[in-house]
Amino acid sequence: MAGILPFCKPKSSGKHRGNTLCRHGHHKWVTDKERVFDTKRGQLVTRLCCKRCAAVKTKLL
Ligand SMILES: [Zn+2]
Repeated sequence: MAGILPFCKPKSSGKHRGNTLCRHGHHKWVTDKERVFDTKRGQLVTRLCCKRCAAVKTKLL
C-alpha cells in the first residue's frame, strides 16, 4: 500500500511559513521509495515530495 509518508505531511504551522525557498522553486525534495504508476504517462515514476511544504512531484525513471 502506498500511503503518505510522514515527511510528506507539513507541520501544522502552515504551508506558507518558512518556505521562502519553496516559493522560489527550491524545494527540499526527498524520494518516496514507493514507485507509483503514472497513468497519464503509462509508466512507473518515482515520487518525490518536499520535506518543507509537502509538495509532490513525480520523476520519470
Ligand atoms: Zn517545498
